[in-house]
Amino acid sequence: MNLKGTDILTAAQFTRDQVEQLFSVADGLAARLQKGERLRTLDGKLLATVFYEPSTRTRLSFEAAMQRLGGGVLSVAEAKTASSVAKGETLPDTIRTIANYANAIVLRHPDVGAAQIAADAASIPILNAGDGAGEHPTQALLDLYTIRAEKKTIDGLRVALVGDLKNGRTVHSLARALSLFKVDFSLVAPAALSMPTEVSDYLRARDFIVEETNDLARTLQKADVVYMTRVQKERFADQKQYEKMKNFFILTSDLVKSAKENLLVMHPLPRIDEITTDVDTLPNAAYFRQAKNGVFIRMALLAEVFGN
Ligand code: ASP
Repeated sequence: MNLKGTDILTAAQFTRDQVEQLFSVADGLAARLQKGERLRTLDGKLLATVFYEPSTRTRLSFEAAMQRLGGGVLSVAEAKTASSVAKGETLPDTIRTIANYANAIVLRHPDVGAAQIAADAASIPILNAGDGAGEHPTQALLDLYTIRAEKKTIDGLRVALVGDLKNGRTVHSLARALSLFKVDFSLVAPAALSMPTEVSDYLRARDFIVEETNDLARTLQKADVVYMTRVQKERFADQKQYEKMKNFFILTSDLVKSAKENLLVMHPLPRIDEITTDVDTLPNAAYFRQAKNGVFIRMALLAEVFGN
């Protein structure tokens, strides 16, 4: 599929063929793991995870994926305080240094474009694990993988992306990744948090029907998948504005029960209050299965980027 040695910077870089091949590699690896097989595919390889912003799922699932493939991990969970970044070292210098110790780097950073800067500085693959409000391409892969696992297809679905579409990097990547399939989009956000035109134009330029609305209940009557997101507190300069927006949409079990049958409820997590906990026990709630899928799709991606 030709991902050997490539940087993973944006969801827009993938072809449908590559994504579908990653799904089947992930299926195969998941089956082998579930049988209890011990994999040695990446024996002798080292992955550095360098995180300038907090993370639970992305960092730990990348590290689990690497170790499940028999590789090793160098983990910098708090790059801002626990590395020479605290002394003022620049991103390119930090990356150039770590590139001497590892075979690939997973990077999360608060600035849009940071992954590209790192890729320009390093001779080894950079995997973008979130560049500010920019993109989160590996999340988009696991999101697609989850939709396909739960719905058995991606083509033909109406997908509602809900919440902070302005600052949410997961939805910026997921919208681009979904454009490899035949889907209809409902972008559900308050005006102040609407999808950047860069992303909605990307979809419209590819002839997608893109509905923009702030009516969640009505959207749920026709959506097959609802992808809830957290209002991104850390991107607000004015915390009063955050407080005003944070509970704009709340998905409750009553709302899910009044929605189209078999609505798939997704969330990249962490969930704050935008999905009430009574939704968790409904069969529709896929967000913890989604988090689990992160390991399998990241295993597939690492295997391909390392070229095994
Ligand atoms: N964990 C996701 C991210 O890092 C979503 C979120 O934080 O709201 O973008």
